[in-house]
Amino acid sequence: MDYLSRLNDKQRQAAVYTEGPLLILAGAGSGKTSTMTCRIAYLIEEMGVSPYNILAVTFTNKAAKEMRDRVENLVGSDLNMWILTFHSACLRILRSHADVLGYGRDFAVYDPADQKTLVRNICKDLQIDTKKFSPAYFLGVISSCKEKRITPQQYPREYGTDYREQLIHKVYTAYELQLKKNNAMDFDDLLLNAVRVLEQDEAVLLKYQNRFRYIMVDEYQDTNQIQYTFVRMLAEEHRNICVVGDDDQCIYQWRGADIRNILEFEKDFPGAKVVKLEQNYRSTGNILEAAHSVIRHNAARKAKKLWTDAAGGSRITYFRAQDEREEAHYIASEIGRLTSGSYTLQEGRRDGRKYSDFAILYRTNAQSRTFEEALSRRDIPYRVLGGLRYYDRKEVKDLMCYMRLVQNRADDLALVRIVNEPKRGIGAKTLEKLQTLARVRGESLFDTLCDEAVVSSLSAKAGAGIRELTELIGSFAAEKENMRVSDIYDGLLVRSGYMKMLEDQNTIESESRIENLMEFKSVIYDYEEEDQNISLADFMERIALLADVDNHDAGENAVVLMTLHSAKGLEFPFVFMPGMEDGLFPGWRAFDRPDGLEEERRLCYVGITRAKERLWMTSAQTRTLYGKTDFTRESQFMREIDPKLLDGDGVYQQKRPQGGAFRDGAGSPAAARPFDQLKYARQRTKQNAAAMQQSAGDTFAAGDRVSHPKFGAGEVLSCDGKIIRVRFGDGEKKLAIGFAPLKKL
Ligand code: ATP
Ligand code: MG
Repeated sequence: MDYLSRLNDKQRQAAVYTEGPLLILAGAGSGKTSTMTCRIAYLIEEMGVSPYNILAVTFTNKAAKEMRDRVENLVGSDLNMWILTFHSACLRILRSHADVLGYGRDFAVYDPADQKTLVRNICKDLQIDTKKFSPAYFLGVISSCKEKRITPQQYPREYGTDYREQLIHKVYTAYELQLKKNNAMDFDDLLLNAVRVLEQDEAVLLKYQNRFRYIMVDEYQDTNQIQYTFVRMLAEEHRNICVVGDDDQCIYQWRGADIRNILEFEKDFPGAKVVKLEQNYRSTGNILEAAHSVIRHNAARKAKKLWTDAAGGSRITYFRAQDEREEAHYIASEIGRLTSGSYTLQEGRRDGRKYSDFAILYRTNAQSRTFEEALSRRDIPYRVLGGLRYYDRKEVKDLMCYMRLVQNRADDLALVRIVNEPKRGIGAKTLEKLQTLARVRGESLFDTLCDEAVVSSLSAKAGAGIRELTELIGSFAAEKENMRVSDIYDGLLVRSGYMKMLEDQNTIESESRIENLMEFKSVIYDYEEEDQNISLADFMERIALLADVDNHDAGENAVVLMTLHSAKGLEFPFVFMPGMEDGLFPGWRAFDRPDGLEEERRLCYVGITRAKERLWMTSAQTRTLYGKTDFTRESQFMREIDPKLLDGDGVYQQKRPQGGAFRDGAGSPAAARPFDQLKYARQRTKQNAAAMQQSAGDTFAAGDRVSHPKFGAGEVLSCDGKIIRVRFGDGEKKLAIGFAPLKKL
């Protein structure tokens, strides 16, 4: 009972209200998760409920494990309880009852890699060109169909029978058949099939309805339709269902979460008791105020407000840096200052804080790079949570390998990594054989691949792919002294087919890879700005050093870097929210969907409420993102925060407010669509690569005037179709047509 005394009245009310539907609707940090944990302990200890009769569902494995540990701590024994994620709960049910749907009980669960292989094979059978329609694209469509419970049979009726839709229909149908034949399910199937079992076999439904006399769901605001149905069916018999959530923290609508699930709980379960927790135990008053001043601008929400016992605390520090490098430098030096022990907290306590007390929460992964560099420079250990360090990301490494090869064609390691990236039809076995051959001959793999005798022994597709690759690398290698690093990069990215591969996949993941690759251009421009004539060799050397820093501390005492999305449910004493600029946060994508801006605002609310003691928000006057430098405007969320809560730099306020008092939802002038830097960077990359290639189409003759971005204007001396000799101001150059960025004047 001790644990109950630690709860406040409202929390206790919720914990002991065990019979009938219950909705705990409360803001961030009000102890929702804590209350749910106590409720489970109370059911077992005080109500004598067997752990066997309880089902508690959370969102991540980490959260599930934490909750199980906490309950076992309270109850003091090891319980074999169902405190699980949705996926694992469904998997358990299916392990016993998949036969209802005609599956064997030992069915396999296919992970995304398996799924991809399967779809690739299907495309091959159906003779679908995976260059035009990638497996990832089909899988994305299939997944969203399953989420909406649209079967292959229903697909044409829902989406029509245009060419593309016909293809999807065929692939989807074959995919389902294959899964069934292989006695396998994918992740979406786990949820979907569990629901199907419950729908199709009444005995099974009754069994679980009877078993789970008490059902609890954390982070209910982020459930999708199928998860909702699952919970609802199980709860029908006993109706002892307790859901916990915060409509202000629904941040996964873009992945199918349906905010209506929580807003309409009282309709779905008539007579439901609603408990609103209003005391926040996590954050100081000013932080909480700031969170409210932002979230109250959302129209679709249940009004609620939190209060806290904690004193006002420090105000939120706002820093508007000149550029993103100064922003990162500022954050790193603040962390340095506060961990050194020379800092006095408001209460007069002198305190050197641990690195792990700090979190940097950003909107997109591409932002992590500048922070990683600034922290490294100060020897501050950090770890990137739920993601890789910038230079460890696959796409960044791949492009670096292309550049390494241009620099040094003997770099076998780099070649092996990219030879089939994008797909060139070189399987693992073929590659192994080629490597052996190169070893026997005592030459580099690249040289072996330049041997026409070798290449013509490969399949037609592989042969063509290899020829293109070696020619591409060879030409850039020959031209590298004459080209800017950024041009080499653009050329490699586009002409290798890498960019197209990602664009064809057209998934959230591939979009984020493109973002990271565009961000690489910021790196290159940084160096080119410092030294206009930086060579590829120098550039690669410096990057290699950066990429190798070992400030990556997997241990405990390290600053944590992660996206705002992955910070849900967590808390930290000190939080930094960088990049508070329109177009970045809220991101320009927010303006694509009607509720987009509100979802971004909820994300901002989640971010602010992660902070316990202090919060910094920063922005940069100019930001180079994806290689393009722009002046920025402070985030509209920044402008929504009451100025009296902010310390430091002032937020620019418009003299005459535009639009309504504070309801500037999408459509009002304040919400004008910000400039889309990413789109611009992508276009420019392609145009640049095309411009270089275009010189192949031009015919040059002696006497023509031409211009070159590095050497300026010049006069053509001779041209033999492939090689062109030009006299520039600082001497004569031999250039390769089709690679040299030459323009005829
Ligand atoms: P979120 O919305 O971010 O998931 P939450 O509502 O689930 O937050 P918890 O994580 O359960 O909140 O609690 C937030 C913090 O408040 C935790 O550090 C917890 O230990 C503390 N806390 C919760 N209830 C109380 C209480 N009654 N007394 C003191 N501290 C409490
Ligand atoms: Mg919680």
